[in-house]
Amino acid sequence: MAKAPKDLSDLFHETLKDIYYAEKQILRALPKMAKNAQTDELRAAFEKHRDETEGHVERLDQVFEMIGKSPRGKTCDAIIGILDEGKEIMEDFAQTEALDPGMLAAAQAVEHYEISRYGTLKTWAQQLGLKDAVPLLEATLSEEKKTDELLTRLALANVNKKAA
Ligand code: FE
Ligand code: FE
Repeated sequence: MAKAPKDLSDLFHETLKDIYYAEKQILRALPKMAKNAQTDELRAAFEKHRDETEGHVERLDQVFEMIGKSPRGKTCDAIIGILDEGKEIMEDFAQTEALDPGMLAAAQAVEHYEISRYGTLKTWAQQLGLKDAVPLLEATLSEEKKTDELLTRLALANVNKKAA
């Protein structure tokens, strides 16, 4: 029997596995970043987002269930690369005034990756008629965007403090 050609629902499932893997890696990275943060504000931001990230994994579990698949990740080289760069910054700039700015930049790269993935998944869920998945993906997307905005504010506060 000929194999059915792959379609948008296959792509949706593959992308879901990609971001599932990414969220699990992020869950492991955020406590290390919080530990290294030099200001209370940045530490608190990383800790808060770690808790939110647990919720992101749970929402993805639900979306997997909605499409009748078991939750499984697929190695995502993009997030590995982004997180590796963050680790490198934490090592190379440990105990320097560039550490927090470096971690802020690394964390924003992570958020931008997630924003891109969730934006795409939400659009495809709409297209595929997965009505119950849309609000879940939208909720996470909104938390990723808010986190990105918070990191921008912290980065600017850091610059202003240095200038003062
Ligand atoms: Fe997330
Ligand atoms: Fe995030």
